[in-house]
Amino acid sequence: MPKTSDPHSDAPQMAGQPDSPAAKADGGRLVFLVESDAALARDLSSQIGYFGYTVRLFRDLCSFGAAIKATRPAAIIMDSVSFGDDACSVAALDGIRGMAAKPVPLLFISAHGDMKARLQAVHAGCDAYFTKPVDVGGLIDKLDALTSNVPAEPYRVLIVENSASLAKSYATLLKGAGMVAEVISDPMQTLDKLVEFRPDIVLLDLHMAACDGFELATVIRQQEEFVGISIVFLSAESNIGQQLFALRLGGDDFLIKPIEPAHLVSVVASRVERSRVLRSFMVRDSLTGLLNHTAIKEQLEIQLARTRRLNGKLSFAMLDIDHFKLVNDTYGHSVGDRVLKSLSRLLQQRLRETDIVGRYGGEEFAVILNDTDGPAAVKVLDQIREDLSCIRHLASGKEFSITFSGGVADFPHFLDAGTLGEAADKALYEAKCGGRNRLVLAQG
Ligand code: GH3
Ligand code: MG
Ligand code: MG
Repeated sequence: MPKTSDPHSDAPQMAGQPDSPAAKADGGRLVFLVESDAALARDLSSQIGYFGYTVRLFRDLCSFGAAIKATRPAAIIMDSVSFGDDACSVAALDGIRGMAAKPVPLLFISAHGDMKARLQAVHAGCDAYFTKPVDVGGLIDKLDALTSNVPAEPYRVLIVENSASLAKSYATLLKGAGMVAEVISDPMQTLDKLVEFRPDIVLLDLHMAACDGFELATVIRQQEEFVGISIVFLSAESNIGQQLFALRLGGDDFLIKPIEPAHLVSVVASRVERSRVLRSFMVRDSLTGLLNHTAIKEQLEIQLARTRRLNGKLSFAMLDIDHFKLVNDTYGHSVGDRVLKSLSRLLQQRLRETDIVGRYGGEEFAVILNDTDGPAAVKVLDQIREDLSCIRHLASGKEFSITFSGGVADFPHFLDAGTLGEAADKALYEAKCGGRNRLVLAQG
């Protein structure tokens, strides 16, 4: 079933209803599908629906041409058989092209992969082209890439500056550029502020009363947890020796006052961009983009502390793909990789934003479900398990599907990260022994 507004609710939203009246975009994920072959239309709609898209189906270009003028979908998937030289095709294309400055991504599917057919699609303005039988995994990858418009979190800047008026003017400038900026004038408050505010970057005045910028940078750099934070020194000091010394201490840049406003904004933005990329390598798994083993374990500690404080509930699940070795052995490692990506995407799309997903190891995933007790977590994951088993993967012209087994343990039945992890692992083992493709809740 496709994504609902609350993934933990029972009310599913139908996908792929032929000409369903004004299907609502679910977080901008409404997809128009133009497909005259009823069987293929039904099949594609449900397959795409599993990945959190709401599909509105059109059997011909005439009805599509009218709808596209009224509603802007996140993407359009069009079978080239619907396409011709008739008035409806022209009207439909005009509708797509007329969609303001930002065109809607257009994906073509076609029975033909030859140059002429592809060129015709390019002329129609298509962004991606798939030949039949359609590899749904590849289609979803492309849909995700073309429709992703997750706004980046604003850059967070901490300014440690002796002069209150200068600090204020820097903060105003950076806020004007869409960043979040906080100011402290007492360097002795820096460590507390780093923990509480979690800046991407610290602008450090070199000359301050309680300690100088060099000393403060050294204190920051001696703590591993702050290694991902950029440090930029601000000083009237133009002595090159001093500047090199500052960089040797772990500073990333050295700006000489008075600082050009545009220069400050540009240096901060480029440093933060870079440090965010580097930090994502530290905590993200490169294949799936999920949190890596260390990061998900850290998150479990953090979320548990929060749950204890609020006297709340939390579930921890370990999921493991069934007979995954067989997938690799039969279809090859790269197909195995694609399957891993598809499960990770399904988990991300189908869980709430407050749930946290990580790749625990090879074909093992870990999920932290905040504010959710064990039975509710099992219910949610069981639905995802069922949906995953309906997704068909395509490799070397053959179709196959996969399943996973999972173990779930919850707080407060299990009180700390260690016992939660052990209990979930043991429950997973029981699920495997019990025949796989199932979830088991650890009894506390
Ligand atoms: P079970 O149902 O008992 O879990 O069986 P299984 O075959 O899934 O488990 P097993 O532990 O025997 O095999 C796991 C396989 O996962 C072996 C390994 O090659 C594969 N694997 C681990 N990491 C990756 C990866 O990043 N990519 C791919 N393609 N395969 C991986
Ligand atoms: Mg395993
Ligand atoms: Mg396995």
